[in-house]
This record gives sequence, C-alpha cells and structure tokens, in this order.
Amino acid sequence: MVGGARVGCAAVIPRVLRAAAVFLDRDGTLIVDKSYLSKPEEVEFIPGTIEALGKLASAGFRLVMVTNQSGIGRGYFTLEDVERVHARMAVEMRALGVSFAAIYVAPEAPDQPSYGRKPSPQFLFDARDRLGLDLDRCYMVGDKWLDLETGWNAGTRRSLLVRTGHGRQVEANGGGNMRSAVVVDDMAAAAEWILTDRLE
Ligand SMILES: [Mg+2]
Repeated sequence: MVGGARVGCAAVIPRVLRAAAVFLDRDGTLIVDKSYLSKPEEVEFIPGTIEALGKLASAGFRLVMVTNQSGIGRGYFTLEDVERVHARMAVEMRALGVSFAAIYVAPEAPDQPSYGRKPSPQFLFDARDRLGLDLDRCYMVGDKWLDLETGWNAGTRRSLLVRTGHGRQVEANGGGNMRSAVVVDDMAAAAEWILTDRLE
C-alpha cells in the first residue's frame, strides 16, 4: 500500500466530510494486459488513462487500485516483482501529478484461500475504513466480470466495465446478466461518465 492519510476512527466522520473513491482494476483497465506481467519495463498505460485519473483526482476522488495477482500464488513471480511494477506505474503517474491513495494486491491463485481476492469486497471495505470513504459515492472500474461483482458486493454506487482488456468479450458474453453495469470504451470514458454521474 502507498500513501494516503490514515483515519483513526472512520465511524465518527460526519457523512458530509466522507470521501469518495474510484476503485480501479489494473490489467486491461489501466495498463495493457500482458498476461502475468511482472517486469516494470512491460508497463504500458492504455492511452489517456493517466490523464483520466488526473481528472478524477482533481474532482476529489481518491484513486484506489485493487488487483488480483494470481501469478504470485502460482509461483510465476513474487510480491516484490509486483511492487516494482507498481513503482514504475507511480513514476509515470507522478509525472502528471497523479497518485494512488492506496493499492491492494491479492496474491493468491484462484484455488487458494484468500483474504481479499476479487470478487471479494474485502479490500474495498478496508479502503473505506482506512480512507474514510462513503462507499455509495464510490465507483468500481474493471475489464472483467469479477470486477463488476466486486463493486456490487461492496455496495459502490456503480460498477463500470471498460471495453479494453477482456471487457469487450465480457460485454458480448454478459447478455442479460450485465445488470446495472455501465459499459464504456476505456478508462478515459469511464472518468467522463463518473464525473457526470457523481453526487455533488
Ligand atoms: Mg483486469
């Protein structure tokens, strides 16, 4: 996890002062999904993404990345490798004045017991408590069905599916199960949608 002011007791913060966040999947949403990416030099932001994150941050949203990295549990790479990837992302973002308030990584393979692997809402609850978030003013953005479920499971205002990464396929397969998902082309479009929808 990186940065972010710690909140001693979120429960006593008046509702009007509670913050909103956008929860962000990593691979296929922020950066190009290169399947078990583990090297900093492989980081490639999807065009327009950092600028979109900057707009959300300027509007007051905290940016919280929530990523399943089963390659750790499968033994393909280590948590330290993942942290180096995230450090590279942070450098590129910082150049445009953007940063994450927190990063949550689920390292387990799908068949391993996990504290927070998506679609578990656990990391969103942890971020709520840590950052003093009002989840019903928050959004979840991702390119997989489990990202949408994570937002729904946590009670975020909306879950958004981007058509980057696996998103286009998810949309095609989703049929009537898409429920209340908002489907947009990419992170830039997601930011525009959120900035129009958000509660003042
Ligand atoms: Mg993804």
